[in-house]
Amino acid sequence: MLTWKVLSQMTPRLTANYHTHTPRCQHARGTEREFIEAAIANGIKTLGFADHSPQLLKNGFVSGIRMLPEQLPGYVDTLVKLREEYKDKIEILIGLEAEYYPDIFDDLIGYISQFPIDYLIMGQHYLFDESTSPYVSLPNDSEDSLADYADQLCEGMRTGKFAYVAHPDLKNYVGPNEIYEKHMSKICLTAKELDIPLEINVLGLWQKRIYPSEKFWRLAGEIGNTAIIGCDAHSPEAIYLSEFIDGCFEIAEKYGVKLTESIRMTMKK
Ligand SMILES: [Zn+2]
Ligand SMILES: [Zn+2]
Repeated sequence: MLTWKVLSQMTPRLTANYHTHTPRCQHARGTEREFIEAAIANGIKTLGFADHSPQLLKNGFVSGIRMLPEQLPGYVDTLVKLREEYKDKIEILIGLEAEYYPDIFDDLIGYISQFPIDYLIMGQHYLFDESTSPYVSLPNDSEDSLADYADQLCEGMRTGKFAYVAHPDLKNYVGPNEIYEKHMSKICLTAKELDIPLEINVLGLWQKRIYPSEKFWRLAGEIGNTAIIGCDAHSPEAIYLSEFIDGCFEIAEKYGVKLTESIRMTMKK
């Protein structure tokens, strides 16, 4: 497991976080108001909610890790009201964390376009279709699977619907590093070409997951990517985990990765 050096005194503070969940995804807790209050208390100026989007799988598969399609109106409605109520204290944005499944992506966009969603972030947890494929963060040494992951992220970025890529380093490829770099560099190059930030994920660092991955961020630094720090908060106290946010700043610094705090509102008409 990777360990990142403890940070020096002068780390900058995070003032925008676009990766916040709600209990609708079935694995988060806390009310929207509690997330907002936690953000204000910690100096966050822009708080984006990006709960796990519903997916409209053709075979009717219902996921246990995301909101149901019929929950989307309530999600948006709640946030529209809170955005108005808190407008003098914090900017609230309404996003979704979505997978790019090529066969059903247009259906998803058609559905969510009926609502005032500001942006999407790409969280690719499965390949092609989650009803049949394993979680991409399970250890795997298949080059084909790694190539599919990279191609799918690149194709997803090219739709123009994603403001950034959440935890691009979620894929747990355990084969040779040359093969890893051969495919993962495609993600970095496409993101750079399209000026799409890649996320350094606070939750992963906090929970000692395989991401943020040292080998990935070394590559992103060499290629010259821009990164964004995302809290991926599934509870109000995870809105500002100082030690781990500092750790994400340090990863960026260590590998010479530029950071941004602004994203495009990719779903706004
Ligand atoms: Zn989640
Ligand atoms: Zn997330």
